[in-house]
Amino acid sequence: MAFKTIIEPFKIKVIEPIKITTEEERQGYLKEAHYNLFGLKSEQVLIDFLTDSGTSAMSDNQWASLMLGDESYAGSKSWGRMRNTIHELTGYPHIFPTHQGRAAERIVYGKLGGKGKVFISNTHFDTTRANIEVTGAEAIDIPIPESKDTALVYPFKGNMDIGKLEELVKKHGKENIGAVILTVTNNSSGGQPVSMENAVSVGKICRNYGLLYLIDCCRIAENAYFIKHREPGYENMGYYEIAQKMFSLADGCIMSAKKDAIVNMGGFFALKDKDFADSCRETLIITEGYITYGGLSGRDMETIATGLQEVFDPDYLHYRIRSTAYLGNKLHEVGVPVMLPIGGHAVYVDAKKMYPNIPAEEYPGQALACELYLKGGIRSCEIGSVMMGHRDASGCFIAAPMELVRLAIPRRVYTQSHIEYVIEVFEKLKEDCGSVKGLKIIEEPRFLRHFTAKFERL
Ligand SMILES: *Cc1c(COP(=O)(O)O)cnc(C)c1O
Repeated sequence: MAFKTIIEPFKIKVIEPIKITTEEERQGYLKEAHYNLFGLKSEQVLIDFLTDSGTSAMSDNQWASLMLGDESYAGSKSWGRMRNTIHELTGYPHIFPTHQGRAAERIVYGKLGGKGKVFISNTHFDTTRANIEVTGAEAIDIPIPESKDTALVYPFKGNMDIGKLEELVKKHGKENIGAVILTVTNNSSGGQPVSMENAVSVGKICRNYGLLYLIDCCRIAENAYFIKHREPGYENMGYYEIAQKMFSLADGCIMSAKKDAIVNMGGFFALKDKDFADSCRETLIITEGYITYGGLSGRDMETIATGLQEVFDPDYLHYRIRSTAYLGNKLHEVGVPVMLPIGGHAVYVDAKKMYPNIPAEEYPGQALACELYLKGGIRSCEIGSVMMGHRDASGCFIAAPMELVRLAIPRRVYTQSHIEYVIEVFEKLKEDCGSVKGLKIIEEPRFLRHFTAKFERL
């Protein structure tokens, strides 16, 4: 690239206004929301980095696809288009639509799970883990050790630990392994990529032991970008071909289309094995809908088909990964502690390092998320002791392993000037680091407390 400024490879045709608020106004909103950012109204937010899931902007082609939606109950033309697009990409013969990723997980892991079964992944995403554990099965994460060091720059920190995989298969017995799941990119571990070499090694072990190998492919296009630019031997291969090759190694995949299909709702799963597919089909019809729509409208299926083609556009992927990296690397330069290297869909800030004066039981991540909102109107997501900490039986506080704040970047939504603004806000936050206080929880539900807990400032 001759120029260093990243320009969005699109023009804006429809705009969604952002209401500019003052710090004073936000102080009131934050108090009303009990210092929990999930409690804010979206119009109270300037830059929404809560999640990249279902928050993408569709293209003119996708909006045009909506009008082509065939809403027939059976044999919809739009399903034909979505199925063919997925078949061409994945090579898998049996494809099923669902209303989102977790619905596909419930069907597939519901069949494979059960008491005594073990699932092994580089890292199970939280809905994946929940859908496995709810069947009584166990979900074991084996990311490579390099993934635990937030400051270590390593090209494929999303990889699975191959040595541990083999150990676990021997320990639990191959007949007890429900599936081996490779999550690309590794969402819960910083959006870090998985190398093709790792995907091949996982495949070899699965074939040797006769294990089912599934790819959680929510961000496979973003992962393909990293392979092309970081893994020797793939420099001259296209992103689409890299993704095809990765799919060819496994027995099936599950996708939340809310990520790399660049739509607001949808999902699917695809399988090689006919018998297994037959058994899933029944559950799909009972719980999601007929096999040619799952939980989706015809128009949704059209937009997914279009989005799955657009996401592999080199200009798009270049902009997507570079602009996320730009934000992360700039924050690093101005002295904000971030997880390195920067992943595909999000930047993770290490709140423990940013606010060393705030102990884990006073939630430094939540404090940072609140400051970001207060000073800049930016909504982020705490991934630390609010989300994963707890008290043991004796009431002793058990902290999460890390106190992170995630800035997840919606696809094609914000421009370079929004990103520059976020960097400026962080520079301001750096100046005031020492004066920020923690929070305490004054009310919390029994499960998933981060969504609804109420806080008070200390
Ligand atoms: C989002 C996500 C899911 C779940 O998909 P939903 O559409 O939110 O139900 C599963 N796995 C990964 C890696 C995800 O990022």
